Amino acid sequence: MTIKNAMTIDVEDYFQVSAFENHIDKSTWDTIPCRLENNMDRILQLLSDHDTRATFFTLGWVADNYPSVIKKIVSEGHELASHGYQHIRVSDQTSEQFLADISRTKDLLQQIGGNEVKGYRAASFSMGEKTPWAHDMLAQAGYAYSSSIYPIQHDHYGMPSASQYLYYPLGEDDQEFCEIPISTLDVPGKRLPVGGGGYFRFFPYALSKWMIAEVNKQHKQPTIFYFHPWEIDPEQPKQNNIGMKTRFRHYVNLSRMYDRLDRLLKDFEWATMDEVFINKQNKTLS
Ligand SMILES: [Zn+2]
Repeated sequence: MTIKNAMTIDVEDYFQVSAFENHIDKSTWDTIPCRLENNMDRILQLLSDHDTRATFFTLGWVADNYPSVIKKIVSEGHELASHGYQHIRVSDQTSEQFLADISRTKDLLQQIGGNEVKGYRAASFSMGEKTPWAHDMLAQAGYAYSSSIYPIQHDHYGMPSASQYLYYPLGEDDQEFCEIPISTLDVPGKRLPVGGGGYFRFFPYALSKWMIAEVNKQHKQPTIFYFHPWEIDPEQPKQNNIGMKTRFRHYVNLSRMYDRLDRLLKDFEWATMDEVFINKQNKTLS
C-alpha cells in the first residue's frame, strides 16, 4: 500500500517570518503591501491540479485581515489549522500568554472558516526544552494535535532529543492529544531534515525525493512536508538590512520552488494532517 504523506503550508507573508522580526516591526504589518492572496491562489490552483488536499497552518492576523483567504482554504476541502496570532515564538511567551494566543486564534479561525480547528504549529518550530508547558496548554485550548517539534540540530530551533515520529507528549495514557514532529531521516553519522522549507529549496530535488521515499519504505512512516506562500514568490520585495546567512536562507532558489512542488505533488501521495494522522472526518460546527 502506498503511504500517504502530509502536505502542510504555513500561511504567513514574506515580512512576517521570524528571520525578519528584528527588522520589520509587527505594528507596521498593516502598511506593507501584502502578496499573500495572489500566492495563496497559485498554491490552491497547484493543489487542485494534483487533486490534493493539504493542511494550512494559518496566522490569526491573516484571518483578521484576509478572511477571503480562510474561506477559500475551507471551501476547497483543505484543513484549516492554527499558526498562532502573529508569529511570536512560543519560547518568547509565558504559558499564560501562550494559552491566550492559541485560544484566540483557534476561535477566530473557526468563526471565519466554520470548521473545527484541530491542529497547531509553533512559529519557527519554537517548542522544545524551554517550553515544557506548551503541549499541556494546547490540549487545554482544545487542540487535538501539534506539529511543532523539529527533532534536529539547528541554530534557531530544534529538539534533537524528541521522538522522530508521532508521540503522546501528555503520556501514553492520554491519546487525545499528540505531537507530530517534522520529518527527519537518520543516515550514518547524521540526521537529515526531510520536512521542506529552506532545506528543500537548497537540496537537489533528487535528494529530497530519496529522503521521503526512505522514510516511507524503510521506516514505514508518513512524512510531514511544509512550505510557505512566499517561497513560490521570487518577485517579493527584498529585505536589505539582514545578515548574509539570513539572506541566503530566505532567498535561495525561490525561482525553482514552484516547479519542485509540482514534481513533489506528482511523485508522492499527499493528504491533510487530519487524514494522515488523526483519521477523523472534519466536522462542521453547528
Ligand atoms: Zn511561520
